[in-house]
Amino acid sequence: MKEELQRIKDLALAAIHEAQDNQALQDVRVKYLGKKGEVTALLKGLGKLSPEERPKMGALVNEVRVALEEALDAVKADMDRKEMEERLSSEKIDITLPGRVTRQGHIHPLTAVNEMIEDFFMKMGYTVEEGPEVEQDHFNFECLNLPKDHPARDMQDSFYITENFLLRTHTSPVQARTMQRHEPNSPIRMIAPGKVYRWDYDATHSPVFHQVEGLIIDKNITFADLKGTLEAFLRHMFGEDTQVRFRTSFFPFTEPSAEVDISCVMCGGEGCRVCSHTGWLEILGCGMVHPNVLRINGYDPDQVQGFAFGMGVERIAMLLYGIGDLRLFFEDDVRFLNQF
Ligand SMILES: [Zn+2]
Repeated sequence: MKEELQRIKDLALAAIHEAQDNQALQDVRVKYLGKKGEVTALLKGLGKLSPEERPKMGALVNEVRVALEEALDAVKADMDRKEMEERLSSEKIDITLPGRVTRQGHIHPLTAVNEMIEDFFMKMGYTVEEGPEVEQDHFNFECLNLPKDHPARDMQDSFYITENFLLRTHTSPVQARTMQRHEPNSPIRMIAPGKVYRWDYDATHSPVFHQVEGLIIDKNITFADLKGTLEAFLRHMFGEDTQVRFRTSFFPFTEPSAEVDISCVMCGGEGCRVCSHTGWLEILGCGMVHPNVLRINGYDPDQVQGFAFGMGVERIAMLLYGIGDLRLFFEDDVRFLNQF
């Protein structure tokens, strides 16, 4: 029986070390240590031995059983470790791959310029006022000293919805609405940014464009206040070296009125194609609020004075960024917008 035990042990150990996978290992375990296994059979056969031999032989068989179990466990542990290593190396995350970039948008150049303008005037204590884009003829024209038969009211320039409603042609009706909302003769310091509409379409005109208008009303406001404010604003936008010039002009809602030019941002005043070789660029319109406009909107021109100004946001953005065609702002071409 001793020889038989040694033979079984040798065969079992050889089978354990030759096993290629877990299934082969499991087969060996069943073959020798299972319920009908060869080692189990030897243990069962101990009953046939004499009482003296039984414990000695029992101990030997048990030793073999323990040795085989330990060998099985060791080989299995080895297999599991190798399998884990293989999985780790094959399933490794390659951290050298670039991540997925979330594309981040940014604000439109017109919004950026609008914010620059608002920022300047808010720091000067101006409020930002808004009004409807579909406006009454009354607020768009009549409150601004433009009665029905005024020659400056060209029907061709406007989008009328009904006889009395139109898409506002400027943000000036917001000035009228703000004045009428205030107590008569109380001070106002406001800007009105927003979309306006006119019947135009070419490289420098769009049927929809953006304006910022400003209005200040108080006691003892003079043309010197107007000049100082606009010079500070234009130097803030275009640089400290910017030259500013006022030319007399006409607007129905201001008296006196002026066009404001700045020294050319491209040539610095030398003369170039952009400034038509004059060295100057027209940038905004302004003037002292016409006494009629004050009266129509509930203010007394003998008590208070004011000035107003208005500018096109597209025009300023075109000059700041060197853009030649205004229509680019509205075409939503990512190649254009990505440049800002
Ligand atoms: Zn120039």
